Amino acid sequence: MYIISNKLKETESFIPHEKINELLETTKNPDRKLIEQIIEKSLNKERLTPQETAFLLNADDPELVQMIFNAAKQLKEKIYGNRIVLFAPLYIGNECINGCLYCGFRSQNRQIVRKTLNEEELSEELYVLTSKGHKRLIVVFGEHPMYSPKFIANVIQKIYAFKNKTGEIRRVNVNAAPQTVKGYEIIKEVGIGTFQIFQETYHLPTYKKLHVYGPKSSYVYRLFGLDRAMIAGIDDVGIGALFGLYNWKFEVMGLIYHTKHLEERFGVGPHTISFPRIEPAFGTPLANNPPHPVSDYDFKRLIAIIRLSVPYTGLILTAREKPQIRREAIELGVSQIDAGSSIGVGSYSQIDQEVVRKSQFVLGDTRTLDDVIKELIENGYIPSFCTACYRAGRTGQHFMEFAIPGFVKEFCTPNAILTLKEYLVDYGSCETKKAGEMLIENELSKMPEQRRENIKNLLMKIEAGIRDVRM
Ligand code: SAM
Ligand code: SF4
Repeated sequence: MYIISNKLKETESFIPHEKINELLETTKNPDRKLIEQIIEKSLNKERLTPQETAFLLNADDPELVQMIFNAAKQLKEKIYGNRIVLFAPLYIGNECINGCLYCGFRSQNRQIVRKTLNEEELSEELYVLTSKGHKRLIVVFGEHPMYSPKFIANVIQKIYAFKNKTGEIRRVNVNAAPQTVKGYEIIKEVGIGTFQIFQETYHLPTYKKLHVYGPKSSYVYRLFGLDRAMIAGIDDVGIGALFGLYNWKFEVMGLIYHTKHLEERFGVGPHTISFPRIEPAFGTPLANNPPHPVSDYDFKRLIAIIRLSVPYTGLILTAREKPQIRREAIELGVSQIDAGSSIGVGSYSQIDQEVVRKSQFVLGDTRTLDDVIKELIENGYIPSFCTACYRAGRTGQHFMEFAIPGFVKEFCTPNAILTLKEYLVDYGSCETKKAGEMLIENELSKMPEQRRENIKNLLMKIEAGIRDVRM
């Protein structure tokens, strides 16, 4: 049995700092041939070694960068097809006892209003979210004794129980403080999707400078946070780094070593990887002036390199980013985005500009869900609200998409079409409906006859009012 010692020293981690620095130093100026070989390995669906990732990170020549972009696009199309899964964040409470210097919620920020949704307010938020067509949420919490595992579990139960005509939430992911194994067990009981924890920075000295007090000041407790989740039986976990705190190349290496560690310990890597960039935050000087800002160009590079390095993992791009960079980044291998998001506590139902201005950070993409869906359709993507795998007990979904030949064509694309159809019938604007119906026709025309007929039958059921139709 795998037990994590609770006496780990801060330096006892699986992020080998010296080795990472050495790899980043010894892989400089890779030649074209080598980059081609590494790309070829990735296109054959093999995870890259840390050294191979370091070569890609050091491919600074614009021609090589373009090769990496092209390969990431190719890999995304080859493995995942053209679906983009949509979700929304739901902030439950911003009480926090930590002092993360980049976050508007840190306890010393006296300029924001602290708030936790009560039951009625939670219902109001869910009413708005489900009225817009959302089916997948990530619930977000500050770190505070109030937000105990039981509290979190209770919120999730309430969300699953909520019904709004045909609207309901079918998958709840969680972004909250790392828990004990017991704590995760309580949360797992109510049926969560992915448990996300971002390490923020994998660079220990930087981590120590930015997290001076509160439970989050322990680097290793956080680093092993998802090991404890896995031990508790939560097998969909999401990792991430907050880009802008330290050198972006080091952070990508950290994500790769974290992935490798989970694979080695549990036989399965992370379900998703997130790569938020720091955004300005009210009353938070460091967020307004990050120590290692990442340019849009380097941001796209890091996404493409993560795509190639870990071909089987879902990549999440949030509405922290502006619409234009979202458009460009999606092509490079992103599989999930949030849309129509609002990150104030209670701000879906109470549109108070002051709450929005003083939330955790400032959002870059404030378009409505319908606008984002329409644009995705126009760009040839199938917006998907699919939750079929999770609900059929097929966890580790991304791994199946990746490992089982034909899985995407047989399950993912049909389910994306079916959930899009539900959206169009129940919530779509006229223009989105028109564009969506054309996209569905086009997708059906590409399918073998038998599958096309099956899906047409299911689409007719949706038109007749049946919901939650899936393969
Ligand atoms: N409180 C929990 C924690 O810290 O793990 C979970 C929720 S926290 C609100 C979610 C994530 O927001 C953090 O892990 C961090 O990466 C991100 N975040 C914090 N401040 C940010 C900022 N100024 N810009 C962008 N993302 C930020
Ligand atoms: Fe609190 Fe999380 Fe913000 Fe840190 S990142 S201050 S723990 S809400």
